Amino acid sequence: MLLIGLTGGIGAGKTEVSDYMHSRYAIKIIDADVISRNLLKKGSDAYAETQKNFPAEIFDDEGNIDRKAMRRLIFSDQVARQKLERIIHPRVRTEIKKQLNLSSSDYCILSAPLLIEAGMNDLVSRLLIVDSTEEIRIQRVVARDQCSRGNVEKIIASQLDDSKRLQAADDIVTNNGNHASLTKQLDKLHKKYLNLTDQASHNRTYV
Ligand code: ATP
Repeated sequence: MLLIGLTGGIGAGKTEVSDYMHSRYAIKIIDADVISRNLLKKGSDAYAETQKNFPAEIFDDEGNIDRKAMRRLIFSDQVARQKLERIIHPRVRTEIKKQLNLSSSDYCILSAPLLIEAGMNDLVSRLLIVDSTEEIRIQRVVARDQCSRGNVEKIIASQLDDSKRLQAADDIVTNNGNHASLTKQLDKLHKKYLNLTDQASHNRTYV
């Protein structure tokens, strides 16, 4: 199975890309964020480990993990961030492999904002970066999430440098224009990926 890793900075357009590839070409999308959210649901073993290792302030009144409080904590405390990563990263990897082995899609896309930072590169056959300028990303996220510029700037500052991300890329789509300009690039990429799936080297099982 050819697995394309999809990443990019906040607001670059990862969801736009994966939604299009799924709706237009029925490509299976594996979303690392959705997986980690599910893994941390109350009652799971990852939840129990989080409860043991994190302060009460990151849980709401019902005992669920308050994602906003958790995000605030890990952005300001690197040790807490590493602790959370140790709990969820191995489990996320296991779930990704499970979904891959069950999929009959022509190829799969693994969408993960922190794909490179989390060291998931080794799972993917190619890395696709969706890139757009910092100013456009800030404006899009402010409009989408009704948040302040400062908030988005802080998240950008905590993420990998754009140049480092681009250096790691096998494929790049530039998303500074309208939808049509994005989908034109994606149509071309889809053809390229179909050609690559014909190569036997990608028929691997994930263990
Ligand atoms: P995050 O890192 O926060 O998950 P993301 O990389 O998934 O963000 P999207 O949610 O796809 O980014 O895009 C950010 C916002 O910009 C969304 O509201 C989306 O609809 C809008 N957007 C993305 N690309 C375009 C485009 N080419 N034209 C118009 N709007 C766009």
